[in-house]
Amino acid sequence: MVPFGEVPEVISKAIAAHILGYLNLDADVLPPSAHPAYAHDERRLQYNAGTILKAFESTPFHDYEKVIGVLEVDLFVPIFTYVFGEAKQGGKYALVSLHRLKTNSDGSDSPSSLQIERAAKVALHELGHLFNLFHCMYEKCLMHFSGGLQDLDKTPLYFCKYCAIYFREALSMS
Ligand SMILES: [Zn+2]
Ligand SMILES: [Zn+2]
Repeated sequence: MVPFGEVPEVISKAIAAHILGYLNLDADVLPPSAHPAYAHDERRLQYNAGTILKAFESTPFHDYEKVIGVLEVDLFVPIFTYVFGEAKQGGKYALVSLHRLKTNSDGSDSPSSLQIERAAKVALHELGHLFNLFHCMYEKCLMHFSGGLQDLDKTPLYFCKYCAIYFREALSMS
C-alpha cells in the first residue's frame, strides 16, 4: 500500500489487514508518495487515474509483486464520471480512491467502519484485476462491477467460488 498525500493511516492499515485476512497475502504500508497535483483536471475538478498510474509505474518497487496507491482525491477515467479504483489488468499497479466512500446516498457521513469496509472491497477488487481476474457476472462476488455505492455495499467481501479458484491459480503461478 502506498498512500498518496494525506491519507489516514488507519485506513491504509485496515486495507492491508483485509488483504492479509481475506487473501492470506502479506501487505505493508509504505511511506507516502506526494499528492498527485500533476493529475488534476482543471475542467473536471477531478484527478486523472491514468495519469497517476503512469507516474506510479515509474517507481519499480522491486520488493513487491503488486502495489496499490490509496488516495483521498476523486478519480476519473475519460469514459466514466468517476471511479472507485483503477488497475491495469494483469499489471502491478492499482489505485483506490477513498473520496466517494465517505458518504451515504443521502449525503450524510458514513460510519468509519463502513468506509473501511468499502475501501477494502475496492482494494481487493483491484487486486483481483492485478492477478488478471475479470469482472464477474455474479452479484455475490468481489469481482462484480460496482458502478456506485449501492452496488459496492451489496458486494460481499469475498470472491465467488469460480473467481476464488482463478485467484488461487494466479497466485500459485506468480
Ligand atoms: Zn473492476
Ligand atoms: Zn466471481
